[in-house]
Amino acid sequence: MKRSFDVLVIGAGPAGIAAALRAAECQRSVGLVDDNPSPGGQIWRGGVAHPNGGAPWLELLSRSSVTPLYGTRVLDQPAPGLLLAEAGETLVELRYQKLVLATGAREMFLPFPGWTLPNVMGAGGLQALVKSGLPIAGKRVVVAGSGPLLLAVAATLRGYGAEIVGVCEQASWRNLATFATRLGWRKLGQAVRLKRELVGVPFYTDCWPLSAAGHGKVERVLVSHRGSPREWACDYLACGFHLVPNTELAALLGCQLENGFVKTDRCQQTSVADVFCAGEPTGIGGVELALLQGQIAGLCAGGDQSGVVELVAQQRAMRPFAARLAKAFALRPELTALATPETLVCRCEDVTLARLRECNSWREGKLYTRCGMGPCQGRVCGPATQFILGWQPESVRPPVFPARVESLLAAASNAEVNTEPNAAMNAATNPYKNPGERS
Ligand SMILES: Cc1cc2nc3c(=O)[nH]c(=O)nc-3n(C[C@H](O)[C@H](O)[C@H](O)COP(=O)(O)OP(=O)(O)OC[C@H]3O[C@@H](n4cnc5c(N)ncnc54)[C@H](O)[C@@H]3O)c2cc1C
Repeated sequence: MKRSFDVLVIGAGPAGIAAALRAAECQRSVGLVDDNPSPGGQIWRGGVAHPNGGAPWLELLSRSSVTPLYGTRVLDQPAPGLLLAEAGETLVELRYQKLVLATGAREMFLPFPGWTLPNVMGAGGLQALVKSGLPIAGKRVVVAGSGPLLLAVAATLRGYGAEIVGVCEQASWRNLATFATRLGWRKLGQAVRLKRELVGVPFYTDCWPLSAAGHGKVERVLVSHRGSPREWACDYLACGFHLVPNTELAALLGCQLENGFVKTDRCQQTSVADVFCAGEPTGIGGVELALLQGQIAGLCAGGDQSGVVELVAQQRAMRPFAARLAKAFALRPELTALATPETLVCRCEDVTLARLRECNSWREGKLYTRCGMGPCQGRVCGPATQFILGWQPESVRPPVFPARVESLLAAASNAEVNTEPNAAMNAATNPYKNPGERS
């Protein structure tokens, strides 16, 4: 299947929706791609009924001229202006004049003994499952890790009837107090609302999971609280250590990264011409910042900058929040010692910490142990090894997500047809020439 747009937006979370709507207002043809079956991203997952500010945006989107391409996952850019994606079993060629990357963020996981037991889940992951119908009423849940997401998750789960045993935040009370005093009225209001939803739920700072144990699934969690161990019985452990940006596609396109985030100018333009980026890949700053950046990127990609100045000013005012968030929830060094030598760090390929300690870099780890070469393609173990071992991620190779062999073969034959007779992409540069050689 082949589609062509003036403006193509990857990611239908708040940033991508805002970008698509603004670009469509500029009378451009706009395509909005997301690998989920419906728009909303992480926060508005579940559609228009979601109360978290998403309803008006989703309503506007449904009435707009934006072409939805949901259930479609972008894998590669074989040539400038052309992306390859998979929609189920169909290979999709997406051509664009301008591209907006709004690929969001994912949870950060740290390995500890027992973290691979069934019912130990990502905090946002469990939240998403519950929103999609997993019954949680009456289940005892420990929520642990770091970041504001923990409170949001605890509130959601409690709303669905879970018994929250406790929320364990690794950050110190002092860090959180400093952070809270500098929250604006709006964010303070949100925090107070969340706190109200969690009345009676114990909230522990300086607290993190040491291990999870149980027969066939998690039954108890051992945590460290201000240096003392505590053990709780539970049915689920929802655990995430703040967020990491999804920058793989941007990196593949050659966009410059700075401190792990995509670097953009005031128009959200990346270092690559005609490629814009908005939302969490440019910094973890929450939904309001993502919406502003998405609107700026959409207007600039659409070619109408008249309303941009005001949005840029608002965006600048919010930027310090992202920096304060990163500082308040910075991971403490003690967490580098959570995993024991026997703990699996790469759970796709069953690689223990002991095996990784024999290697000196991410590349060596991949070559000698296959760490990062399984289905998640290093999305889980990459940030973990970066934190525990100080390894830096190296090159990003296509496809950025695991793809069907049929798609790779179809892409390879398309590339050959497309490049003759000028052979712009010859056999040496064709990434799909021999799929069997690829990781
Ligand atoms: C698991 C999780 C749960 C969260 N829950 C909450 C919450 O309850 N409350 C709250 O205030 N904040 C929550 N957040 C934070 C919130 O997501 C952000 O503050 C904000 O919504 C980010 O918006 P965004 O548009 O930048 O990214 P997202 O909302 O993450 O949207 C990005 C979208 O891009 C898609 N995508 C990425 N790569 C590709 C690709 N190659 N091809 C196709 N599609 C792609 C993703 O599937 C996703 O739908 C959560 C974050 C995470 C990671």
